[in-house]
Amino acid sequence: MFFDEVSAYYEKLENTSSRLSMVDILSALLSKARPDEIKNLIYFTQGVMAPPFEGVQIGIAEKFAENAIAIASGHSKGEAIAIFRKTGDLGHTAEELIRKGRLKPLSKKHLEINHVFDSMKKIAGTSGAGSQDAKIGALVELLASASPLEARYIIRFALGKLRLGAGDATILESLSKAYTGDRKAKAELENAYNICSDLGKVGYILSEKGMKGIADLKVSIFEPIRPALAERMPTAEQILEKMGGRCAIESKYDGLRAQVHIDRKKGRVRIFSRNLEDLTGMFPDIAQAALAEVNAKEAIIEGEAISYDEVTGEFRPFQETIQRKRKHGIEAKSQEIPIHLFSFDLMYLDGEDYLGKPYEERRKKLESIINGDGFIRFSDKIIATTPKQIDKYFEDAIESGLEGIVAKDLLAPYIAGARKFSWIKLKRSYKGELSDTIDLVILGYYRGKGQRTEFGLGGLLGGVYNEKKDVFETISKIGTGFSEKQMQDLGNLLKKSKLPKKPARVEALIEPDFWVEPEYVITVRADEITRSPMHTCGKNGDDPGYALRFPRLVSDGIREDKSADDATTTKEIIEMFDQQKKIKVDG
Ligand code: ATP
Repeated sequence: MFFDEVSAYYEKLENTSSRLSMVDILSALLSKARPDEIKNLIYFTQGVMAPPFEGVQIGIAEKFAENAIAIASGHSKGEAIAIFRKTGDLGHTAEELIRKGRLKPLSKKHLEINHVFDSMKKIAGTSGAGSQDAKIGALVELLASASPLEARYIIRFALGKLRLGAGDATILESLSKAYTGDRKAKAELENAYNICSDLGKVGYILSEKGMKGIADLKVSIFEPIRPALAERMPTAEQILEKMGGRCAIESKYDGLRAQVHIDRKKGRVRIFSRNLEDLTGMFPDIAQAALAEVNAKEAIIEGEAISYDEVTGEFRPFQETIQRKRKHGIEAKSQEIPIHLFSFDLMYLDGEDYLGKPYEERRKKLESIINGDGFIRFSDKIIATTPKQIDKYFEDAIESGLEGIVAKDLLAPYIAGARKFSWIKLKRSYKGELSDTIDLVILGYYRGKGQRTEFGLGGLLGGVYNEKKDVFETISKIGTGFSEKQMQDLGNLLKKSKLPKKPARVEALIEPDFWVEPEYVITVRADEITRSPMHTCGKNGDDPGYALRFPRLVSDGIREDKSADDATTTKEIIEMFDQQKKIKVDG
């Protein structure tokens, strides 16, 4: 497949303002790829070199891209910088300069998607002395054969700024349409995606083996499973009723979720976060313990990594666990803050996929392969049959510094990648306030006024994710809870994410000063959820939408462990609103 055709589709995607037409355009594009091209095409469209959990960065810095554009187009670096200053987009810069003409085209090769992607791989894989020159050289070579439009996307991709706005769900729906003729196979494709977290792999299997191959896909070690998530309910009575009168109740630890993949024969371990980032380097002690303490050839287990004082039996606050995020001094930190893994699930063991087995069986097996008295423990749990037992367990959990409890359906399978009632969380409720925090995607921002002028940021427009429609809906403006440093950092970050117009997957009735790519998540706490005609969250026809009253930032800036699709969903907001109403009536 020629890259000029891909680029023409990308341009159409950029220009559309509706999500449905995005699916039409993308499915037309995907249907043209050969099986040996589909993976590369999907990764390129996602703007990544490999499935995101591999963490492969292409690594071209702006100033190197400026150099490459100047050399390939036969213009001066000054000219490139001048256009970049004006447009803020090096993709456009490359396009404009190449359109103006180049001194001497190096090659008349008609670029193909596989060639472009392979060159990008080469660029990403080049390291060591002289690597920047080699990277620029490879980029110049590509640009020398590129049309102006192709140059736009090559440069944006190389900078990690392709930003076509197509999220996972949009790509899955487009694959369904491309290969089966309609969007109905999306749910099955999503199941496959939930167990391998690799859209390229899903596309490849679909194009090679059709829906049969998709149905046969099994868990593989070192391919992270998208995590199961918990629903919320406000009382023990309701939880127990929903669970059919009997369930497991576990402590909810406030640390970092860790999915641990273990291959003892190869002595290899990888640890993935809730957001499927590789955390292995952050937790060397858990990686070591996984090899020493898990009695299996191969296993995938899941738990919460948390800073825990064995002597006093005290759980340390989240802030202490997260300090491990710092790249330096991990060795020293592991002495100072020992981290334990409180394991709570088993997904795979010695060639057998455990996802479909009931919780009770998974947990029993988990307890049979680990001793539970080393660095890897088990989440504390009871089996409850009365609300009184749950309430007592909850109070004790809060008393010992935990976040709350998670109730688990004894008979339910592990439901990867979805928030279902097989897990229900109950957290400490704050008097007079919403009992839970809300994770918002930043959709836009407002200019700073008065004292905030210097930050270039006065407030944010926050949104939630509507899973059903695969769009982001606005719910609130947020202007409080920020420190000066957070303002400054956010201002700098968002400036780079600015978009010329509202992205196709954002639905809004209000207009911020600047739209941004929906990619950053923050956590806020609010007093209440109210109905509002201003916001599109949950808005149905003429009925009002939902909004937050007095939202304030509570996360330490951006939540690095969450991506836009992990934000609180519209469905959760509506459920929280209904629960809040109920508490008001009951209370
Ligand atoms: P939250 O901010 O409440 O942790 P979340 O969206 O990250 O929300 P949920 O699925 O809603 O995740 O809540 C479950 C989370 O609680 C898991 O992601 C995990 O990190 C954490 N957790 C702590 N203890 C447990 C446990 N025993 N079982 C399951 N999850 C647990």
